Amino acid sequence: MEKKVIRLSKSCLSDEEKKAVLKVLDNEFLGMGNDVKLFEEELAQFFGISAENVVCTNTGTAALHLALASMDIGLGDEVLVPSLTYLASFQAISATGAIPVACDINEATLFIDINDARKRLTSKTKAIMPVHYASSPLGMEEVYNFAKANDLRVVEDAAHSFGSYLKGKKVGSFGDTLCFSFDGIKNITSGEGGAIVSFDESVLKRSKDGRLLSVEDDSAKRAKNERTWKPIVKYQGFRYHMSNVMAAIGLAQLRRFKDLSEKRQMLVQRYLHNLIDESRVKVLDLGFSEIVSHIFVVKILGGKREYVFNGLVANKIQCGLHYYPNHLLDLYRTSYSLPVTENIYSQILTLPLHPDLSLDDVDNVCSTLKRLLAEA
Ligand SMILES: *Cc1c(COP(=O)(O)O)cnc(C)c1O
Repeated sequence: MEKKVIRLSKSCLSDEEKKAVLKVLDNEFLGMGNDVKLFEEELAQFFGISAENVVCTNTGTAALHLALASMDIGLGDEVLVPSLTYLASFQAISATGAIPVACDINEATLFIDINDARKRLTSKTKAIMPVHYASSPLGMEEVYNFAKANDLRVVEDAAHSFGSYLKGKKVGSFGDTLCFSFDGIKNITSGEGGAIVSFDESVLKRSKDGRLLSVEDDSAKRAKNERTWKPIVKYQGFRYHMSNVMAAIGLAQLRRFKDLSEKRQMLVQRYLHNLIDESRVKVLDLGFSEIVSHIFVVKILGGKREYVFNGLVANKIQCGLHYYPNHLLDLYRTSYSLPVTENIYSQILTLPLHPDLSLDDVDNVCSTLKRLLAEA
């Protein structure tokens, strides 16, 4: 029998999402309307905050861009960001006209290294964008202390960490401004999609308007199926709003989140159990009891990462590299090196993780990985 491919990640959908989409299609109101408002209300309940604090967008990247723009960050400004992140973090910063300043990370948590960030502070530094790499917010306290001491705004790239906690507090229930992603493979999806959560009134007002071309108070009108015919416009805006179709998918996923997240956590526990006795693989120490892992990243020691990556793929097990360091890209190349990032990049490997995997799949991945390491 042909061996099936074990996918690295995928959207995991039930009949609920399909029914919800059909309902929106039957209503023949596909754009931004009441479903988006409802999704924002249920997200707010999930975070334990007010619905006023949630602004849904059409992608997570748009959320990041819009959050920065709503803080008036732009040309001539600098934003501190770890190099080891999805290109979207960097592009969201440079889209405003600001410069993303690549920083190194902590060896243990892969979180932005504040000591390195401090070295890169200038009079132009306006904000810091920490990334919850592999869903871990460990390091946020240091980031907020650093931001406070240096009068910086904080835009958290929380694309990975939907549903995670930091010392008992849910990510999205506190802070300055956070951005989530609901793209197809994240902890919940709305097809594509994202959300800004902010505790700053001005950022909320600017981003609610900004997602609809900065037409003042258009968000509230659209939720009531009304339009603005004589717009008041004071800022550059974007078409970054979420659609009812997306919100319907997102709502169905949010209502399934308990199952989806428990499955992810169970699979991660299986990985940890299987890999604990494998000395050539180092699992990250991210406080797994408090997080809902979006990706499961391990370090492959002894210079064998490439070999293992290719071997897994040859065995029909997809794996990934999260991420190619941004400071090595042509567009963002730095004159300085980031030794921890560069060293860790040569070791990391992302193993398959999504709620439709079985424990047998994880066992299969781990035994194949161990076999490859034994023969490497
Ligand atoms: C997914 C992701 C984003 C962007 O979200 P999209 O919804 O795909 O635009 C940003 N940062 C990180 C770290 C991500 O993983």
